[in-house]
Amino acid sequence: MANYQTHEHDVIVIGAGGAGLRAAIEVSSRGLSVGLICKSLLGKAHTVMAEGGMAAALANVDAGDDWKTHFRDTMRGGKMLNNWRMAQLHAQESPDRVRELEHWGAVFDRTENGKILQRAFGGHKWKRLCHVGDRTGLEMIRTLQDRGVHQGIEVYMECTISKLFLDNGKIAGALGYYRENGDYVLFKTKAVVLATGGVGKVFTVTSNSWEYTADGHALAYDAGAELIDMEFVQFHPTGMVWPPGVRGILVTEGVRGEGGILTNSEGKRFMFDYLPESTKNDYAATEDEAKEWVDATINHKKSEARRPPELSTRDNVARAIYVENKEGRGSPHGGVFLDISYQDSERVKKKLPSMYHQFKELADVDITTQKMEVGPTAHYIMGGVRVEADTCQSKVPGLFAAGEVAGGMHGANRLGGNSLSDLVVFGRRAGTGASDYVDALKDSPSINEKDIDAAIEELEAPLKREGGLNPYDVHKEMNQIMSTHVGIFREKDEMAEGIKKLEALKEKIAQVSVDADKRFNPGWHLCRDLKNMIIAAEAIARSAHSREESRGAHSRLDFPDADDKKWGTLNSSCSKDGDKMKLDHTELPEMPADLKELFD
Ligand SMILES: Cc1cc2nc3c(=O)[nH]c(=O)nc-3n(C[C@H](O)[C@H](O)[C@H](O)COP(=O)(O)OP(=O)(O)OC[C@H]3O[C@@H](n4cnc5c(N)ncnc54)[C@H](O)[C@@H]3O)c2cc1C
Repeated sequence: MANYQTHEHDVIVIGAGGAGLRAAIEVSSRGLSVGLICKSLLGKAHTVMAEGGMAAALANVDAGDDWKTHFRDTMRGGKMLNNWRMAQLHAQESPDRVRELEHWGAVFDRTENGKILQRAFGGHKWKRLCHVGDRTGLEMIRTLQDRGVHQGIEVYMECTISKLFLDNGKIAGALGYYRENGDYVLFKTKAVVLATGGVGKVFTVTSNSWEYTADGHALAYDAGAELIDMEFVQFHPTGMVWPPGVRGILVTEGVRGEGGILTNSEGKRFMFDYLPESTKNDYAATEDEAKEWVDATINHKKSEARRPPELSTRDNVARAIYVENKEGRGSPHGGVFLDISYQDSERVKKKLPSMYHQFKELADVDITTQKMEVGPTAHYIMGGVRVEADTCQSKVPGLFAAGEVAGGMHGANRLGGNSLSDLVVFGRRAGTGASDYVDALKDSPSINEKDIDAAIEELEAPLKREGGLNPYDVHKEMNQIMSTHVGIFREKDEMAEGIKKLEALKEKIAQVSVDADKRFNPGWHLCRDLKNMIIAAEAIARSAHSREESRGAHSRLDFPDADDKKWGTLNSSCSKDGDKMKLDHTELPEMPADLKELFD
């Protein structure tokens, strides 16, 4: 029998970003015992990196805004593939969640008359993003952490969960290990909220940190939940491209929201040429009109001018940058130029302090006097665990998911700023859903000792195997397969070849080995991460291969248009079928007539 410590909670929340913290606060406010578990130190989640802001229709800057317009923008941005109920709840509840954060101590930037200031972002009709300079995520995490810790939430840090246990198909617990010493820890629980974030480390160039290895996606899949819409991976248009060591690090959309201009190597402002016909009327038609919009934004003045073309949706801008490069008009290191240096330098430093320091320190570029070089970077996954909108419960009783690990809310493409609001809206709902579930549960579930031993044996296999493959080489190969075969632009034969390569890679993952023991051993952690990432990679590749159309972030060279008739109402869904992955296509829930009217 293996050695492990045991803890017991009514609910455990796996992940301490915005979604996890908000869920844990909710559970604890209901008087239940909650354990909050995170792979890194508390406060180091991905949410802390969020820069540009949090979308909520407060109408503080643009009086015309309301939840219906936010809902419509979100659905349009998601190319109507969103779960309408999630998008509705999100638009209706995010203003309250922003006010709640303020009440709990978050200090947002202010308008001249003291209201929460809101900035423009791609795809949002009105200025809607509540922000704290370009450090919004930091303020959000600080506030939620203060609240959570003072409420007495128990936190387990640097602890990676590697397995969920079921009792008669219902959640019963989870196994984890401490990253520092490799000691095992068993959590007995009645409900689990997954809030583990995304999958960025599946790709070579990404804005995501080491933590985004698809753990929650894989834990849910293994437990029997469905992963929907995994083909929709958002490539953010503006990541750093130079020097090589920082390639992929995000350059916030806030730069364009504040008036940043994109140009190619010929100095041309190319985004005017890439606006889809259906949205052309929403954007400035000339440089003069775009300038008028920027001047009005800077001076807090009303103006009829439409927003600049750089604020088109992310999928569109990323594709435009890719094409500019392919056609030989890129910047020296494979990107394009982003320029905010024409504005007053003190304003740039005040509005974009992190960007100023990021470029100065990492690239020796002063953005108040020089142009930035930027290009697409894998940033966010719209796909994730299928959940019921109101409660966030998955198909597995007792298993809930919120935040980036959950699917449905953002459809085929997420609008910037809609993640931070998603985290708190659905974090809270997952907390309520899990608490209600626990309250209604009659019997306490139990965990089979044999399941625990098997999970530990699986974790230890790479330590016991001799002369196996190097996990870092295998990871690199996965990155190359995904970036080459299932990147920004996709094509049938390329993807079919990629899927074959991923199948072969599974064999290699089964043969990785590491030296030394469990203490301070990141190579050993990666062996486990690979098993998670391959599930996400396969789900992305299979779903992308099957969807024979282009929609949102999914761009097919062989099917360049959206096919509403065949694909417009279908979610792809991957689930576990023995040791194979099963791919289905399921109908979207029907939108009620009163909401449909908004699109007429
Ligand atoms: C650079 C950057 C800037 C961004 N800017 C914005 C923005 O301005 N506005 C916006 O709306 N969105 C933005 N986003 C997106 C947004 O930040 C993320 O989608 C969001 O923070 C995800 O939050 P989360 O709570 O789902 O996960 P995270 O905040 O990533 O938290 C995940 C948690 O899960 C834990 N975890 C993972 N696996 C395990 C495991 N196996 N066991 C235990 N713990 C585990 C991690 O340790 C972490 O605590 C940005 C993203 C990036 C990368």
